[in-house]
Amino acid sequence: MTIAIIGCLHGNEVLGKRVIEFLRDRIDARFIIANPPAVEKGVRFIGTDMNRSFPGNPQGSQEETLAHALLAKLEGIEFVIDIHSTTAVTEGFVIAVERSPQALIDAVPLNKVVLMPRAFASGKSLIDHIPGVSLEFHEGIDPASVANVVAETVANMVSSRTVVKEMYVGKRMLQGDAIFENFKQVPGTGLYAILSGEKAYHGTCILCERVSH
Ligand SMILES: [Zn+2]
Repeated sequence: MTIAIIGCLHGNEVLGKRVIEFLRDRIDARFIIANPPAVEKGVRFIGTDMNRSFPGNPQGSQEETLAHALLAKLEGIEFVIDIHSTTAVTEGFVIAVERSPQALIDAVPLNKVVLMPRAFASGKSLIDHIPGVSLEFHEGIDPASVANVVAETVANMVSSRTVVKEMYVGKRMLQGDAIFENFKQVPGTGLYAILSGEKAYHGTCILCERVSH
């Protein structure tokens, strides 16, 4: 199994970097800090949101150039685990897309998975282009505990252990400054709030339907 652990697609999300530091000597994987220039500047991105810049373009923006180079670097990798952090107050959860392998989703020791329709990232997120999942955690979480989640995911893949999850499917964005409790129903919608309170989304959250398997 060849696996890559990706951190800092968003340069201000230092959690990924910290988690990779914990994991380097612990699991056999490729470790990649995706956007070092943005990390150095402490910004989410410099030209364009890197997780909306795939498959990239060697003549494009800073992030499109990096995205193009990253996909080349991931040649031969079976799947990626892409670590994000959010200002939204939320438990950690899995983000999956059509290309996410079910076995990988099942292996992550978290209780919730959100399936993002392709339209949400216009097919331009990393995991739209390589099999994998993104993991989203509150920015204040202890990086060591996230490292445990990643290490256990890899161990579960090897032993085919699965962790049953509540499944949510992204339906639409909700505009407005109101902040809702995440993974709880938003009154009057019948839908569940995800990433409400994420500052980078500027007054928007994602509304999801809860579905059974
Ligand atoms: Zn992010």
